[in-house]
Amino acid sequence: MPNENPLISVVIPVHNEEENLERLYTRLTTTMDELGKPYEIIFTNDGSKDRSEAILQKLHEQRPQQIRVIHFNGNFGQHMAIMAGFARVRGKYIVTLDADLQNPPEEIPKLIEKMEAGHDVVGGYRQDRQDRWWRLFVSKTHNIIRAKIAPSLNMKDQGCMLRAYSRRIVDLMVASEEATTFIPALALTYATNPAEVGVAHEAREAGESSYNFYKLVRYNFDLVTGFSLVPLQMFTMIGMVVSLLSTLFVVFLFIRRIVVGPEAAGLFTLFAILFFLIGIVLMGLGITGEYIGRIYQEVRKRPRFVIREVLDKAHEDHAANTTSTTSEETAA
Ligand code: UDP
Ligand code: MG
Repeated sequence: MPNENPLISVVIPVHNEEENLERLYTRLTTTMDELGKPYEIIFTNDGSKDRSEAILQKLHEQRPQQIRVIHFNGNFGQHMAIMAGFARVRGKYIVTLDADLQNPPEEIPKLIEKMEAGHDVVGGYRQDRQDRWWRLFVSKTHNIIRAKIAPSLNMKDQGCMLRAYSRRIVDLMVASEEATTFIPALALTYATNPAEVGVAHEAREAGESSYNFYKLVRYNFDLVTGFSLVPLQMFTMIGMVVSLLSTLFVVFLFIRRIVVGPEAAGLFTLFAILFFLIGIVLMGLGITGEYIGRIYQEVRKRPRFVIREVLDKAHEDHAANTTSTTSEETAA
């Protein structure tokens, strides 16, 4: 049984990637075969609406012992798709990779080399990134904000998913069971010896990015709220400063009332100040709401993702050979 104990597990989330999967398969298996270490590939089909499901079925049939597929019951997001893969890995080193070939699979050996050197988390950062200008802008801004708000999450490129983790880190991440999460950040909170390597980045050749501006912002809220309370504290701070300033203003107006007498002008200044304050209050409500919404998700305790089907030949064989049934693996 060559793949009973793979050394490397490659975990790939898939959402409408019909045009990329076959090329990914070829390039990935070529690289990994050349590397010459036992490996497995786990695809999570995150509710694709195109032919991805059929293609994944075919890929699984080509290498049933080596390629496993998890079909989600709907779209639960990239990070949940990776988590589902994480829960089933058998390797010692776990690599995550995007399905759209923006992260070249040929860079995986670089990550493995670092892992073998003893690092427990190896993050890739995209050199010469090939994305639309607004994506670069959003990423840059978020990187700066993240560095300020959560300085302990020290990474060059939070959006790069070409990363490697030790099994211990992956098991810890799976055990965390967070309803919303951001895998590279979660890994760093558990890492003892992280490292980073530069990796190439390619433009998306086929298909569309699953992220629009709104989805991206939501993801970055997950990162910020999931790993830091600084936004709430900042808001408290702003509140205190504004209260202090208003108190001084009231004192000033009171003295003016005595010195100058009654005045009625300055109505628009009053409005301007009022709108500014209302803006701050709304922002604070929003920030608080972001946290409360996530607390709500957490306490409802619904499953983070629902699995419809798992294509797992290796495990089926294993189960057929042993008389005892392991229901745990098949439960969602
Ligand atoms: N993805 C996913 N579920 C989603 C969105 C994306 O599994 O809801 C996968 C997608 O198939 C790809 C990876 O996550 O493998 C990164 O997505 P994408 O290329 O759309 O993001 P970008 O590179 O634009 O950040
Ligand atoms: Mg992409």
